[in-house]
Amino acid sequence: MSAEKVISVKELTKRFGDFTAVDNITFDVKQGEIFGFLGANGAGKTTAMRMLCGLSFPTSGEASVAGFDLYKNADAIKRNIGYMSQKFSLYEDLTVRENIRFYGGIYGLTDREIKEKSDEMLTQLKLGEQVNSLVKSLPLGWRQKMSFSVAMLHSPKIVFLDEPTGGVDPITRREFWTLIYEAASRGTTVFVTTHYMDEAEYCDRVSIMVDGRVDALGSPTELKEQFSAKDMGGVFLQLARKATRSDG
Ligand code: ATP
Repeated sequence: MSAEKVISVKELTKRFGDFTAVDNITFDVKQGEIFGFLGANGAGKTTAMRMLCGLSFPTSGEASVAGFDLYKNADAIKRNIGYMSQKFSLYEDLTVRENIRFYGGIYGLTDREIKEKSDEMLTQLKLGEQVNSLVKSLPLGWRQKMSFSVAMLHSPKIVFLDEPTGGVDPITRREFWTLIYEAASRGTTVFVTTHYMDEAEYCDRVSIMVDGRVDALGSPTELKEQFSAKDMGGVFLQLARKATRSDG
């Protein structure tokens, strides 16, 4: 437990009118950790993640991300993190190269850095031959892997991934997780939401949200023991059954 805490959340709450979307959540994430953020539809994951990315203001509670306070330094947080949203963030009518240049510019990289990073990315993703293809012509799995790499262009300390593998086949999901492991092994902290229970097993620690609260938190092994379940699906089902909220 000696690694540096890069996300620290205390009693964080978000209300929309009288509806409490995120209800008093508390947890820490350590540097280089792969932290799975689970919960049924509507549990509050995206709302919590958007607050941690500095995109939405909490109603109450405290949090620091990458060493910056959520209330005082949301802009510094945005510069120090990568975010892959559920909604696709690449420009479909631009080519692979144009997207990399565009996002590199937004992140403030120099032309030389953009060139270096894009060479690295194209080699890692084996996308060299598609560099001048429109993003919309690429298969979904490649677009997702590219979105991830674009979110990592500015070498952020933490990357937030909101259901990054939704809708792709198991082999492509496995390849995506290889990218996640590589990033974590270089010291990047990965905060990831998923609906796939096999992916929950790949995380160092997992938090499970029910109706806006964090109801369970631990390594997959600890949680399986705590809930006497043979896999993470069994843990999840026991908790999800208690949920009163569903966004379908
Ligand atoms: P999913 O897996 O479906 O993405 P989630 O766990 O990410 O679900 P959120 O998107 O965070 O859940 O939503 C949590 C709850 O807050 C839902 O009931 C949702 O309808 C509600 N909610 C989210 N954003 C708003 C908003 N801007 N105004 C009012 N209610 C909202």
